[in-house]
Amino acid sequence: MAVNKDAYFELTNELKQKNVTLVAVSKTKPVEDILALYELGQRDFGENYVQELTEKQSQLPVDIRWHFIGHLQTNKVKYIAPFIYLIQSVDSIKLLSEINKQAQKSNRIINCLLQVHIAQEETKFGFDENELNDAINKFPNLNLQNISIEGLMGMASFTDDMDKVRSEFKYLKLVFDNFKKSELRNLQSEVFSIGMSGDYKIAIEEGSSMVRIGSLLFGERT
Ligand SMILES: *Cc1c(COP(=O)(O)O)cnc(C)c1O
Repeated sequence: MAVNKDAYFELTNELKQKNVTLVAVSKTKPVEDILALYELGQRDFGENYVQELTEKQSQLPVDIRWHFIGHLQTNKVKYIAPFIYLIQSVDSIKLLSEINKQAQKSNRIINCLLQVHIAQEETKFGFDENELNDAINKFPNLNLQNISIEGLMGMASFTDDMDKVRSEFKYLKLVFDNFKKSELRNLQSEVFSIGMSGDYKIAIEEGSSMVRIGSLLFGERT
């Protein structure tokens, strides 16, 4: 399946006006498709499996900014630590500690987003609001000097009910606004990563600064 270049141009125009960063989610798609978007100027790509990511990374230009967006097991952090640009799916303090350890070994600071799940959705990985506050309070004492917490990532429920999606994004935005007020020392920038192919317009209306878009650009996944 070919990359949808028209959709890419339309999307990047729209996002540029609104100052929203596009992460092209290339999971399950071949390196040829990634290169096709790369040649149009795209540099941020997202993957959700470590092995797939490392295989692709080794074959593709070194200036690609790779985002990890799936559940990350602690024993796999070491494979991506040397090159990963932003780990969007940090869902525990234990994982943060391991990322810090591997970042030290690679002599890097690794950018992270904390993943927040909405209260109703028990199956999704991530911190709930209380766990997030807990993590924020603990973070300064953990001395994780090779981690930079850049913001939050979240997902709405998988549903056609766009009112529900909007209210979930509103909730995540409240959590994000509280997070910004916290004294998280490493907070340099303020990334709020919400929005996928089916709901990114709503996400932007609700304050997204980064969208993660796959099927709209690369076609449906099988
Ligand atoms: C797959 C995935 C996306 C992109 O989904 P599309 O609906 O194809 O745009 C975004 N975020 C995460 C966390 C994903 O796993």
